[in-house]
Amino acid sequence: MRRPIDIDALQHVLCAALGTATPVSTPAQLGLGIGPFIAKDSAVADRPTLVGGAAPYAPTTPAPTPQALDALVEHARSLGVAQLLVPRVRRTDDPGALRAAGFVPVAADSECVVRLTEDVDDLLRGRVGADRLRELRAHHAAVSQDLTWERIRLSELNAQGWAREAFVALHRRVAERGEHPTPCNADALDTLAHGAAADRTELLVRRRKEVADAEDAVVLVALLVESHTGRGTYHLAGAVGHDDPVARETLEDASLYRLCLDARSSGLEWVHLGSGDSERKRGVGADLFIPLDHWLRAPDLPSAVEEAEAVEEGDGSALSRFATGPVAAVPVPGPARFRRQPRFDTIDLSSNTNPFLGPDALYPHLDTTELARTYLTTIAELPGHRGVDALSPEHVLFSSGSVDGAMLLLAALASPGETVCVTSPTFPLYAHFARVLRLPVVDVPLRGDALGELDVEAILAADPRVTFLCDPNNPVGTRLDRAQVLDLVRRTRGIVVIDEAYAEFSDTPSYAGLVAAHDNLIVLRTLSKAWGLAGARCGIALARPGLVDALRRVQVPFGFTDASQRAARHRLTNSHEALDSVRRIRAERDRMAAALAQHPSVERVFPSETNFLLVRLHEHEQVMALFAAAGIVVADTGFVIPATCRISIGDRRANDTLLAALSAAV
Ligand code: PMP
Repeated sequence: MRRPIDIDALQHVLCAALGTATPVSTPAQLGLGIGPFIAKDSAVADRPTLVGGAAPYAPTTPAPTPQALDALVEHARSLGVAQLLVPRVRRTDDPGALRAAGFVPVAADSECVVRLTEDVDDLLRGRVGADRLRELRAHHAAVSQDLTWERIRLSELNAQGWAREAFVALHRRVAERGEHPTPCNADALDTLAHGAAADRTELLVRRRKEVADAEDAVVLVALLVESHTGRGTYHLAGAVGHDDPVARETLEDASLYRLCLDARSSGLEWVHLGSGDSERKRGVGADLFIPLDHWLRAPDLPSAVEEAEAVEEGDGSALSRFATGPVAAVPVPGPARFRRQPRFDTIDLSSNTNPFLGPDALYPHLDTTELARTYLTTIAELPGHRGVDALSPEHVLFSSGSVDGAMLLLAALASPGETVCVTSPTFPLYAHFARVLRLPVVDVPLRGDALGELDVEAILAADPRVTFLCDPNNPVGTRLDRAQVLDLVRRTRGIVVIDEAYAEFSDTPSYAGLVAAHDNLIVLRTLSKAWGLAGARCGIALARPGLVDALRRVQVPFGFTDASQRAARHRLTNSHEALDSVRRIRAERDRMAAALAQHPSVERVFPSETNFLLVRLHEHEQVMALFAAAGIVVADTGFVIPATCRISIGDRRANDTLLAALSAAV
């Protein structure tokens, strides 16, 4: 599959289905998600079109070479066909030849792949959560009671005429229901059965066990093709007989789940679930989504160059104006082939790794698009996260903890001599990294009783290249004044970085949803605090794509390991666990704040929107010594805020031990 030779063979299948000698059809007839075509020009969908691919019988078409395109254009001219279509080309392929020949990309859907890196149930638990896994297993069990599971090699189809008839009948039903009609008929199936891929292709059939007439009993048919590498399965055209959409979905989901189980037990590495309906396919475990384009050459369409300009305009994808000169001059490091190639249906003989020692011998996946989407959809549901749903994976950079993000952004965006501003008391690593990078640091201390006010005028007067704000602030625990923060973002000539390491413990709004609107705003987040993954080292920088691009150019490749990606995916897709624990921590925090405030050794407990409490003590030295003697470690913040310590909220027993130790002092 996906070799040009396979695509040629499948074009014969398309011709057989159309009943023509040449692959001339209309986009509407091919059922290729025709919405985008109509949006361009309503005539496009119904105009006779020479098809330079094999959709709907191939999941994708390799990007054609210039020679292949010349031949296609010449063929169209000889046929007198004005419109050409190369359907379903991966956006990761090089479309240079298509552009040069005057084709325009029309966004299609994405192909959806499940990479079988571990036992299917373990993998699904991590990707879709335990509840959804339970649901899929229940559907599968229920469906398996009533229905068969048969996989018939196409080369053996002759002996199973009923299956061919059922395939055709079910596709007709789909067309009658008005769902994307595809030209799947008996001629197509017979041509496929005698073509180059026949011994790699199977008809999957599910039929009711108790119904005697074989053809009548069939409720689902699908075409499965083994990849030419022998390492995975493509799920091509399928059709379901149910008219009830819920029953149809249940059956499809249960069948895809079973397909993954089968593939895994046969030692396959991936299952291609077809293209389109990504959300549903994510729900059955798809973790790789490769965007596809239909490339169209039609009379009266704008040129590809104009299209590209329209896409780039205003979406912030051009490299940020804040990138330093050296950063602007270098590409993203590391093997570009890892980013461009979808790593599932290729054979990787390029990385000098050991093929005999399992998945840990491979370099980590560089394509973290799906995980970025999972992160965004998860936090978009949290209180105070308005606007996050408008962000896309291009706004996201994963780093080795958020501290790595802080270092990267300084390296990418600040040049020698440019000032970095911090607002003490704050997280000390911002100034530390600036000094290590030989950038001058200016400190504009926070003001106000709860240390929540910025001196905006003093910051602006220092004209910093980068200003770090920590909100909620460590070590104080309070939020900064929102109006002042926004005023600073609007008025500074430099970049404002807001470290939201503790945002999940706070009720007041995050700044994450604002990054798309400001080209000088970076929000740092982490999975180390509320999400309980400090050991997995997962930080997230949210910013305009042009800023993300600049950071990526500085980042050491492969720092975000597969083990960390798995841990992050699992935690985010089972977010209720983390969110429940956040509720418990907040309740404990409030209990501890009240108990400490009553204590004679305590002068003040600062209000906290984090998972720690800053406490000012009457007898600071003695209390610190007492904690140490009791084997209790708290952060002594006396050197930044006199007579204080910062107490993390632990479990109830640890918290009670601290209270007891404090009482012993009285
Ligand atoms: N930022 C702040 C404000 C923090 O308090 C901490 C942890 N102490 C970090 C960042 C570090 O986060 P990570 O583990 O993601 O590097």
